[in-house]
Amino acid sequence: MTTEKVRCLIVGSGPAGYTAAIYASRANLAPVLYEGLQPGGQLTTTTEVENFPGYPQGITGPEMMEDLKKQAERFGADIRIGMATKTDLSQAPYKVTIDDEKVIEADALIIATGATAKYLGLEDEKKYAGMGVSACATCDGFFYRKKDVAVVGGGDTACEEALYLSGLAKKVFLIVRKPFLRASKVMQDRVLNAPNIEVLFEHNAIGLFGKNGVEGVHLVKRLGEADEEKLDIAVDGFFLAIGHKPNSDIFKPWIETDEVGYIKVEPGTPKTKVPGVFAAGDVADPHYRQAVTAAGTGCMAAIEAERYLMNQK
Ligand code: NDP
Repeated sequence: MTTEKVRCLIVGSGPAGYTAAIYASRANLAPVLYEGLQPGGQLTTTTEVENFPGYPQGITGPEMMEDLKKQAERFGADIRIGMATKTDLSQAPYKVTIDDEKVIEADALIIATGATAKYLGLEDEKKYAGMGVSACATCDGFFYRKKDVAVVGGGDTACEEALYLSGLAKKVFLIVRKPFLRASKVMQDRVLNAPNIEVLFEHNAIGLFGKNGVEGVHLVKRLGEADEEKLDIAVDGFFLAIGHKPNSDIFKPWIETDEVGYIKVEPGTPKTKVPGVFAAGDVADPHYRQAVTAAGTGCMAAIEAERYLMNQK
């Protein structure tokens, strides 16, 4: 296994990682950034980003990520393809194994690995993967034009996905396990007033059916109650929108996380408990999970890395 020593290593390539790379390269830290499995991160699976300041007409997620990457490269950031597979943060320099074949030793480490969509854990989700099951309406909604689809979840993501799909599909069922939506009021109102969205409160999806792809969902109403009721709905697409899992597993032996897996940082800073190791973006943000907040914390992480490295001299 080869070893390479760098001053500042950034793992992850969403708005947090790229922004950290812009700041770190402008501060002459010669950052090396590994992009991970999904270069550009979650935003590459969205279409229009309308709420990132500075784009009055909006911009597509992939375009914005490409711009951030180019901006980082302009200042000398070394952006590489590769996946961090193992870490040893027991002492500096911190060791991160890439693709199980190369070890990067870094004086400072910025973790910006983001979060990944969660699935219900049904066997059928695997069985119909790529055949009607999706965790990204904006990526796959196009395939369901004028068809019927179901979205699972009751938060802002689920409402956003249901609304997006309602513009394409004939009908959208929103499957919500509780008797209420957890989403913000404005999103709830939009969903409840959309003529082609039907909210199925107190329903759980327990399986899928279909010959050569999803043709419907097996549901249970009021699961576990005395009046529990089984029913099926016919849909062509099944979308998960039940939250995200932070991509923190490989750092867990060394870094403190909350019960969900979000990396714990000193409040108001990107500092983890390990000196010189910083976390930015969705991997450390259970609350906001926005591109602009991720970019903000990426900036903070790079500034803290610079200060840390200066004090090490
Ligand atoms: P949330 O955690 O807010 O919501 C997850 C939803 O999925 C809940 O309704 C939850 O149900 C449901 N759920 C979870 N597990 C299961 C399961 N096993 N079976 C059935 N249902 C399940 O996640 P979101 O991704 O929606 O949002 C995360 C954060 O991002 C929030 O703070 C949100 O406000 C923010 N956000 C903001 C947006 C915006 O402002 N435009 C857009 C998207 C997200 P239950 O309520 O029963 O727990």
